Amino acid sequence: MMEAKWLLNVKLETGSYTDEENYSYTETNLFHLRIEAGKITAILEKTEELPHDGLDRKDMGGLLAVPTFKEMHNHLDKTYMGLGWRSSRPVKNLKQRLKYEAEELKELAPSTKARASRMIETLLSNGSTHIRTHINIDPYIGLKNLEGVLAALEEYKGRVTSEVIAFPQHGLLRENVPALMREAMRSGATMVGGLDPAGIDQAVEESLYTTMDIATEFNVDVDIHLHDDGHVGWYTIDKWLDIVEEAGWKGRSAISHAFCIGQIPTARAHALADRLKEQDVRIMSTIPLTKTLPPIELLDQHGVQVHLGCDGFYDSWSPLGTGDVLEKATTFCEISGRKDEIQIAQSLKWITNGITPLNEAGEKVWPNVQDQADFVFVDAASSAEMIARKVPRKAVMMNGAFVYPLS
Ligand SMILES: [Zn+2]
Repeated sequence: MMEAKWLLNVKLETGSYTDEENYSYTETNLFHLRIEAGKITAILEKTEELPHDGLDRKDMGGLLAVPTFKEMHNHLDKTYMGLGWRSSRPVKNLKQRLKYEAEELKELAPSTKARASRMIETLLSNGSTHIRTHINIDPYIGLKNLEGVLAALEEYKGRVTSEVIAFPQHGLLRENVPALMREAMRSGATMVGGLDPAGIDQAVEESLYTTMDIATEFNVDVDIHLHDDGHVGWYTIDKWLDIVEEAGWKGRSAISHAFCIGQIPTARAHALADRLKEQDVRIMSTIPLTKTLPPIELLDQHGVQVHLGCDGFYDSWSPLGTGDVLEKATTFCEISGRKDEIQIAQSLKWITNGITPLNEAGEKVWPNVQDQADFVFVDAASSAEMIARKVPRKAVMMNGAFVYPLS
């Protein structure tokens, strides 16, 4: 059992105010936090006297504590990290990109564990203590990437939590892929993935039903990559909602990318958002600059949970990207014109699984005694400054232990 300790001089957000010129500010104060067994067991104002308990004390020097980030769409198996610089080959279309990926899968498989570890390290240093990763399950390398990623995650046990998705990148309805997917579920994958039931499998119903069959067979959640545009994409999500309802899989699935929701008429997007909320289907976005975004604010207004991720990067698909999910929140603020303190600060919820230090009314809601001692520490006036200015992460704590930098 980890010993109890005190974190001294931690800056926490305590409220907000708007001045007569309509500038909003976040109010903060310094606190001493008692941490024990991975939890916060006391929060004292800086002016209160510390007990003479002989516990270890670490002075955080006034750094701001915010909730840790969740990287909700990644591909730990694909990155080139650790292999030296290589950009992507030019392609004419998606088919050629998939062909190129297939060609190099075997070459990359032996280094999966090392490459995934570099990616985990990068994500962790940027503040993500949870990683949802998709892992190729395909006819070329079978379960090899899964084995490599699981080995890497095992070494980071206690420092990151994860969801490991068996992902049929090269199509589900071909050769022995459904059998491989089942094998992956028996070999450590914790969720079932899917990919463009129309665009790749060219059989929307069969692809979705097969996905749900595997999910119910293994009693796991689902996260489907959906790049299919416009009404085809809409039809796929609508059909998936029917299947979720039939199977009783409410709250157990997500659609990644979902560009189509931003391409259909707004009235239809509102109706779809109601159904997504009803079945608690989440939307994962990587905030791409070159695609139509799903309407995140519209979805949010309907109560649909949205989460952001970095996606795979520095891989056969693209050499660009940083592994900093905070940057995704920043980019979303830029794209959507969020500029004031409260709107920027509230955008944090999309990278923290909904947790923000202040609520929309500017009242303190986090952290509380008995919460997990999971924090990102930054030198910032507020979470809004952190997001707007992409402030560097000084330290990351999970379950009461520093996981970055290690100490
Ligand atoms: Zn992806």
